[in-house]
Amino acid sequence: MSARESHKTAGFVLRCLNYGESDLIVTFYSSDFGKLKGIAKGAKRSKKRFANVFEPFSLTNIMFTRKSRDMLAFIEACDVIEHYRPIRENLEKTLIASYFIELADHFNPEGKKNEKVFELLRSFLALLQEEKASEAAVRFFELRLLKLAGFEPALEGCISCKAPLTNGNSYYFYAREGGLKCASCARADRCDQSVSAGTVRTLLMGKDMDIGKIKMVALGDSLAAESRNILCGFITHVLGREVKSLKIMEQVRRLGAD
Ligand SMILES: [Zn+2]
Repeated sequence: MSARESHKTAGFVLRCLNYGESDLIVTFYSSDFGKLKGIAKGAKRSKKRFANVFEPFSLTNIMFTRKSRDMLAFIEACDVIEHYRPIRENLEKTLIASYFIELADHFNPEGKKNEKVFELLRSFLALLQEEKASEAAVRFFELRLLKLAGFEPALEGCISCKAPLTNGNSYYFYAREGGLKCASCARADRCDQSVSAGTVRTLLMGKDMDIGKIKMVALGDSLAAESRNILCGFITHVLGREVKSLKIMEQVRRLGAD
């Protein structure tokens, strides 16, 4: 039998599945190994070894062994670094954190390390923990994650005629082409909603803005709706699937708006 190598890393819990009578299969986003999947043997029985550590979006210390990179890891021990209690005590924040985690899961293949994704999760969960839940933070997280995953939308100007973004003009976002078109390049028969240059500028500003300043950004209703349309539509298009937590978040938002 070949020896298993032993490792230690920090990781966010992305998902947790029951496996058999007593085991759990847990997927993490870790700082040193990227997305990592492992089995916690006896986790459902051993409260001492794994006391409530496998809750979604918890940040944990993981000790694991595995024979090779492409094999399931054996989680030997795991303890919580940050449980994000203030997030869990608030429904809106919990939904947002779950959405961050689901996106990080969908956009990252297993075994590919990207410390920036780990840092993105850490900084945005800290922001969510400390500040009021905000639509701006959700949109700016989406933009940053898209960029790290290699799907940054082209928002600097029209992707057809290359004319730069001009204040006062309306634009249309083409998810399939990943960018904006000006009103003259957009098809006349299109049914998508237009986007104002102001919305686009806000997104451009938000994608690199210092994290500490995000709490000062409040999106007005139309700006929020336009940004949501662009980014959520684009994410669904890129993934080729619906994002479950986004759907729930939207349902709750509409309930709140009634
Ligand atoms: Zn154009």
